[in-house]
Amino acid sequence: MTSQIRLLTILFLLSTGTAASQSSTVHQRMIGSAFLDNASYDMLMRLSDEAGGRWIGSPQNELGLRILMEELEKHGVEARLERFMVPGWVRGEDEVRMIAPSDRVFRAVALGYTDRTPAFEAHLVWANRGYPEDFDTCDAGGRIVLVTQESLQGREALLRSEVIRHAAGAGARAVLFINDKKGGMTLCGMGNFQGDAAAVPAFSITWEEGQRLRRLLDRKVPVQMRITVQSYCTPVESANLVCTLRGERREKIVVGAHFDSWDVGQGSIDNGLGTAILFDVARILHALSPRNQRTIEFVWFNGEEMGLWGARKYVEMHRSDSIHTAINMDMTGSPRGFNAMGNDHLMPLLRQLADGMRGFEMSRGVISHPWTNSDHQPFMLAGIPAITPLGHLDKHMVETYHDFGDTFDLVNKNYLSEAASVVAVLTSELANRADLPYVHRSSAETADWLIRHKLDERLKRQGEWIFD
Ligand SMILES: [Zn+2]
Repeated sequence: MTSQIRLLTILFLLSTGTAASQSSTVHQRMIGSAFLDNASYDMLMRLSDEAGGRWIGSPQNELGLRILMEELEKHGVEARLERFMVPGWVRGEDEVRMIAPSDRVFRAVALGYTDRTPAFEAHLVWANRGYPEDFDTCDAGGRIVLVTQESLQGREALLRSEVIRHAAGAGARAVLFINDKKGGMTLCGMGNFQGDAAAVPAFSITWEEGQRLRRLLDRKVPVQMRITVQSYCTPVESANLVCTLRGERREKIVVGAHFDSWDVGQGSIDNGLGTAILFDVARILHALSPRNQRTIEFVWFNGEEMGLWGARKYVEMHRSDSIHTAINMDMTGSPRGFNAMGNDHLMPLLRQLADGMRGFEMSRGVISHPWTNSDHQPFMLAGIPAITPLGHLDKHMVETYHDFGDTFDLVNKNYLSEAASVVAVLTSELANRADLPYVHRSSAETADWLIRHKLDERLKRQGEWIFD
């Protein structure tokens, strides 16, 4: 923190009690509207049922954008598409098949950026968790490698991109990751976040079929597999959906959520929830708080699942917009508090809001633990303060994460109203408080800040450390 920022923070701390804020009547109207109208629930039903899973660059994603724009228009909210190109990936008719000791087509999903490969056959070999030493003891050359995703106590689990790299380095032809969740589920994910074709094909397979393969290998029964990859990497065009509520000042509050989802389910939880809450917040603020000090921009980011592409493009395109604060909602549930994400200057306001909304179960209060790998990351890396509401989801809502079962049936109407209420109030306070300092970290300050919060290692492993 520079000394100038420190001074501003102190001034801010001294003045929070007297700061101009929206009147409580406006807040009450906003909360009332979130519960009485609940338009986001109907919008999310359309998105889930008519469009379905919204993979970036897919016809379903484009249809979903049209539905969202149409529903916003019904409430007089105009939004525009900001188009961009990204290294895309299209899922094809892939097949992971055991051909010996008997024939069986497995339930498997290719990891993103697994690229088209003619059908090939190879023996299967067990490579434990895929650490470099695991490949010293197994003969992976020319074979398909089977690894578990169960983590080892006291040791950080590898990213799947790291395992793929180790396997390819050992001459393996493909990697099968056994999901660590039971119940016939796979776990969609990316082979990397840079947009490069994965070095070798990689798939997530179910826990149950993974155990079957493990038992066969344990008993030294030769397992022969055949893999076909028709998925492919190709540049795709996509868009963020952006809607601006112009304020008196140039400083801007960005309220965002990723709109895209994995293709195998309906994406109603990840991130239909954030998409729908943002819809209601935009609707409510347009109707009840159209004039604000700071500009508010509502952004539905695209391509988060494929590597935060939409948020990266947005930050690139709007770097000079004086973004004051970004709020990110990803799988946001019933509000429990706020995460200031290492932005100390926002703590007093967040505490005041958490304390002031007693009808909500704000039991977690305000924490400050920055994390990576969602759309706030590009903002963080650009030195822009980013925060997120803390939400609660029931166990059954997250169990089907990144798989077939992420469907509209899981959505709780009440959670949407609660979250929209809290985020609408938060947004209007951020947009109208006269006393909130404008804090931007320089590149060197950002690097220090990330190191202090122990996020540098992870970013380096993912190939996303943009400093030094
Ligand atoms: Zn998500």
